[in-house]
Amino acid sequence: MVFARTDPDTAGTARGISAFLVEAGTSGLFVGPRDKKMGQAGAWTAEVVLDEVRVSTDALVGAEGAGFRTAMKSLARGRLHVAALCVGLADRILEETAQAAATIRQGGRAIGEFQLVQAHLAESEAELYAGRAMVLEAARAYDAGEDMTPAPSSAKLFCSEMLGRVADRGVQVHGGMGYMRSVPVERFYRDARLFRIYEGTSDPETDHRPAAAGRRGGLRRTSWSCWRGGPPSSPEGRPGSGWRSRAPSPRTVPRS
Ligand SMILES: Cc1cc2nc3c(=O)[nH]c(=O)nc-3n(C[C@H](O)[C@H](O)[C@H](O)COP(=O)(O)OP(=O)(O)OC[C@H]3O[C@@H](n4cnc5c(N)ncnc54)[C@H](O)[C@@H]3O)c2cc1C
Repeated sequence: MVFARTDPDTAGTARGISAFLVEAGTSGLFVGPRDKKMGQAGAWTAEVVLDEVRVSTDALVGAEGAGFRTAMKSLARGRLHVAALCVGLADRILEETAQAAATIRQGGRAIGEFQLVQAHLAESEAELYAGRAMVLEAARAYDAGEDMTPAPSSAKLFCSEMLGRVADRGVQVHGGMGYMRSVPVERFYRDARLFRIYEGTSDPETDHRPAAAGRRGGLRRTSWSCWRGGPPSSPEGRPGSGWRSRAPSPRTVPRS
C-alpha cells in the first residue's frame, strides 16, 4: 500500500493524499535488503524504493484524496491490535518471571520468597490485568462504533508502556541469566521495545491524551511550535505542561 500526494496544491496538509495498491514486480519498485533489527527478527522489514513508478487508476484504493483518512482509520485498528499483542507478550513474560522466581535460589530459599521479588510480580500482574481490561473495553467500543480513535490510541499507549515495565522486571528477576541469549525473557525484552515505537510512538500518543483530557477541564492547548528554542519557563507555560487556563467563563465564576 502506497500513500502519495495526488493534489500538489495541498502540500503541507493532510488533504490531497491518495492510497494505491502497488503490486510487487511493478516497474520501478525495489525492495532493499532485510533490516538488521534489535528484535522481532521473525517479522522482517526492508526499505521500499519507488523510482518513477506509474500505476493505472485501478490501483487507487478508496476515493481520490481520501488516503489520509484511510490511513488514520487503519492506524486506529492497528493500535488495538498492537495493544492486544502487548498484553499477550506481557502475559508470557510474567509466566517466565514467576517460574524463575520459583526456581532460582539464593541463601537456601527460592527468590520468590523475598518480598521485593514478590512486589515485581504483583506490580506486573496488576498492570497486565489493567492492560487486558483496557484492550477488551477499547475493542468493544470500537466494534460498537462508539469510539474509533481515542480508545485504541489510549490502549496502545498504556499497553506498550506496561509491556516495557513488565519486560524490564522480568529481566531483573532473572538476574544475570536475564541478560543471556539462552533465556526467553532476553529476546522478549528486545521484542517489546518496538511496541513503543511503531503504529505511532508513545510521545505523540501521550501528547494527544492530555489534549483530550484537558478539554474536559476547559483548558486549551498552547502552541507548542513556540518551544523550538526551548520550553518557556514562565509559570503559565511550564515545561511539560503545554497548558494555559482559559479566562473563566461567567458561568464558572463563583458568586460572592
Ligand atoms: C521494525 C519496524 C517496523 C515498522 N513497520 C511499519 C509498517 O508496517 N507500516 C508503517 O506504516 N510503518 C512501519 N514502521 C514505521 C513506524 O511506524 C515509525 O518508525 C514510527 O511511527 C515513528 O516514526 P519515525 O520513525 O518517522 O520517527 P519520528 O516521527 O521522526 O520520531 C522521532 C522522535 O520524535 C518524537 N516525536 C515525533 N512527533 C512527536 C510529537 N508530535 N510530540 C512529541 N514527540 C514527537 C518521537 O516520539 C520520536 O522520539 C515500522 C518501524 C519499524 C522500526
